[in-house]
Formats: sequence, C-alpha cells, structure tokens
Amino acid sequence: MSETTQQTRTADQEELSRRQREARKDIRVIGDPVLREHAREVTEFDRGLRKLAKRMIRTMHDAPGVGLAAPQIGVSLRVVVIETPDDGLIPLINPEVVKHSGDRRLMEGCLSVPGYQAEINRSKQVTVKALDREGKEVRIKAVDSLLAHALEHEIDHINGILYIDYLESADQLIPVRPSIDDGTPSEAEVTLV
Ligand code: ZN
Repeated sequence: MSETTQQTRTADQEELSRRQREARKDIRVIGDPVLREHAREVTEFDRGLRKLAKRMIRTMHDAPGVGLAAPQIGVSLRVVVIETPDDGLIPLINPEVVKHSGDRRLMEGCLSVPGYQAEINRSKQVTVKALDREGKEVRIKAVDSLLAHALEHEIDHINGILYIDYLESADQLIPVRPSIDDGTPSEAEVTLV
C-alpha cells in the first residue's frame, strides 16, 4: 500500500468514527422516558415527515445499525427505518405486526442499550402492515431473515418495549466492547437495531 493510500484510509476512518460519535450522541439510551412511550401515529405526510425519515436514515447509517425507530432520536412518532443487505432501505410509517409465527433464538443488541447483547426469542415469520412516506399502504412478509428480526425489534420500540424486557434476569446480558475508535469488530458483529 502506498503512503498516500495509507493516509487516505486513515482520514476516512477518522471521518467514519467522527460521524459515528455524532450519531451515537443523538441516540437516546435506556433510562430516557421517550423510549418507554407508546409513540403517536403519523397523520401528516408532509415535509416534516420526510425530514425526520432522512435524519433517521443518516443516524442509522452513521451509528451504524440495521434499523432505527423515531423514539431513539427523541421523537415519539410511529416511524421506523430498516436497511438490510438483502432487502435494501425500508422506511415504514405506522407499522404494525399483523401476523407472526414460529420461534427462533437470536443474539440481539440495541443502539439504545449500548455495550450489551443477549439471546432472545423472535418469530420466524413476520407480516407487517404499514404506510410508506407518501402514505400508501405497504405489506411486508419476512421469513427467517434479518428483516424479520429488525421488524419485530423496531415495532417494539414504537410501543415502548426494549429487547431486555424479554430477559428473565439482567445476568443474561452479555457485555460487548464498543467498536468506536479502537477498530475492534466486537460490537459490529452484533445485530444493532
Ligand atoms: Zn433498538
């Protein structure tokens, strides 16, 4: 690797960790009452909603996470964004789980519960009804995928539920090292939603 490439890479990494720190500062963490509210339904599909979705997408990318719910940035509205390699970017307004079936054990982490992960039960199949940013109805069926996982996690968020609520005891929480600055992949291996 040439010296210039090396310097560029370092500058890129610095920019990435700077944006990650900014995003994490924006994210509300456990103890903040907004995370426990039943978020309000969206009724206006206006510029304000598009701006909120844009801010959420940026924060999700920078954090980085697979999904983000509006209460996580302090806005008590039923808006979630999800992005997976297989399904792309999916912003959902007023989403609700209309059907779920099956059981699977999954390792889960949450941007609002930093530093921990735990294994919990999630559904195998999840069907969600929602609106897109224009107010048009969409239906999503996810089977045994990261999308199914994220859909349940994010919809829990807008109902004031955190994944740790499913644990029988705090002993089940597994500490993870943050990936900020030191470049260790430990936290990046967890599904952060
Ligand atoms: Zn979360």
